[in-house]
Amino acid sequence: MKKIVVQKYGGSSLSTIGKMKKIAKKIVARFKEGNQIVVVVSAMGNETNRLLKLAYRISPSPDKRELDMLASTGEQVSIALLAMAIHVLGNKAISFTARHAGILTDGKYTRARLIKIDSQKIEKALNLGKIVIVAGFQGINLHDEVTTLGRGGSDLSAVALAVQLKADLCEIYTDVDGVYTANPKLISKAQRIPRISYDEMSEMAALGAQIMHHRAIDLARKYHLPILVKSTFRSSKGTMITKEVPMLENVIVRGVTYQKNVSKITLQGVKKNTDLACRLFEDLAKENIVIDSIVQDLYNQDTVTVSFIVTEEDFMPSLKITKEIAGKIGVQKIHTDCNLAKVSIVGDSIAKESGIASRMFRTLSRAGIHMETINTSRIRISCLIKLSQLDQAVKALHDEFELSKIKKEI
Ligand code: ASP
Ligand code: MG
Repeated sequence: MKKIVVQKYGGSSLSTIGKMKKIAKKIVARFKEGNQIVVVVSAMGNETNRLLKLAYRISPSPDKRELDMLASTGEQVSIALLAMAIHVLGNKAISFTARHAGILTDGKYTRARLIKIDSQKIEKALNLGKIVIVAGFQGINLHDEVTTLGRGGSDLSAVALAVQLKADLCEIYTDVDGVYTANPKLISKAQRIPRISYDEMSEMAALGAQIMHHRAIDLARKYHLPILVKSTFRSSKGTMITKEVPMLENVIVRGVTYQKNVSKITLQGVKKNTDLACRLFEDLAKENIVIDSIVQDLYNQDTVTVSFIVTEEDFMPSLKITKEIAGKIGVQKIHTDCNLAKVSIVGDSIAKESGIASRMFRTLSRAGIHMETINTSRIRISCLIKLSQLDQAVKALHDEFELSKIKKEI
C-alpha cells in the first residue's frame, strides 16, 4: 500500500501565485516518490485578516454564522488555485472544502470543535491517483452550516486529517525553519530546537510561539502522531514534535516564550461569599473563552478583588459578560489593563529541578521588571509583565538559562 503524506502550508507560504507554483512542484515531486498526498492549506497571506476587517467595517459585532461564511472563503481560494497549479504540471489534483472532506464540527461559530472526519471521499480520490487539496480552518456542523475552528485552525485540520488517514507524520510547512529557543527575530542568538516533546511544544504554542495551534498539538499527542515543522522554501531539518525527547543533562529550560497583548480584568469590592466567581466563569466558559489565570485577594474585611487574564481577542466579550454579572451582584469597580504581556520559560524537567523559579524571578527583578502575577504548571513558569518591558525580559531569561548554547542536534 502507498504511504499517505499529509502536508499543511500556512498563509505566508501561499501569499503569491509564484509561491503557489513552487509549492505545487514540491508536492508533485513528493507524489512521484510514490506517496499518496493530502495537502491542507490556509488562506493566501493575510487574507483572513482582510476579510474580517471588512466585516468589522460593517458592524462592531457581526453575526457569527456570517463571519464564518466570510472567513472560510479565504481557504477556498487557495485550494482551487493550488489544484490548478498542480494540473498545469500535468498531474491530477482535486480541491475539497470541509464539506467534501467530511470535516464535522460542533455548532460554535468562529471557534468550532472537531467532532469527526468522514474521509471516504478523500480516500476515493487518493485511490484514483489524485492529489487532494483540502481547505483548512473550516468545518461543517450537524446542520450542514459552515463553521471555522478559530484563528490558526488549519493546523488542527491537518493534524486531524493525518490522524484519520493514519499517516505516519504530519508535515507543517511555514515561514520559519522550526521551533527556536526564543523568537529569532528578537534574540539573534536563539537556536533551532531539533526535537521537542508534545508537552513542551503545547506550552510554547499556547503561550505564543505562534508556530502551531496548541489544539493541533494536543490532538497529535492524543494519537501519538509525530509532527514535523519545517520551512517551506529554505532547506533545514526543522523541528520534530514527538512523545519523548532525550534531554541533555543540563538542559532544563527548553525555551523562552511570550504572549503579547494579554488583558487583565479586575473586579474590585466584590462581596465575600457571593457566587460571582462561579457565575462569571461559567458564563465565560459558555462562550468558549479560555481564562488564563485567576487571582482572588482580600480587598477589605467584607470584600475581595478578583482578577483574571484573557487574550486580547477575548477581551471585549469577556468585559461584556463581566459587566453583566457585576451589574447583577454589585461590584464597586471594574478595572482593565490591556498593555500587558506574559513571558514564560518552558521545559519538561522544570518541576523536577529546584531553584528554577527563583532564578527566573531574580533575573527579572535584576532587570528592573515588575511581575504582576506569576503562574506555574508542571513544565512552565509564567510572569505577567508590562508589554513595554517584554523584549528586555525575553533577552534576560534567554541569557540566564544559557539557551544559545544548546547543541544543534540532540
Ligand atoms: N486562515 C486562518 C487564519 O488566518 C486559518 C489559518 O491560517 O490557520 O487564522
Ligand atoms: Mg498558523
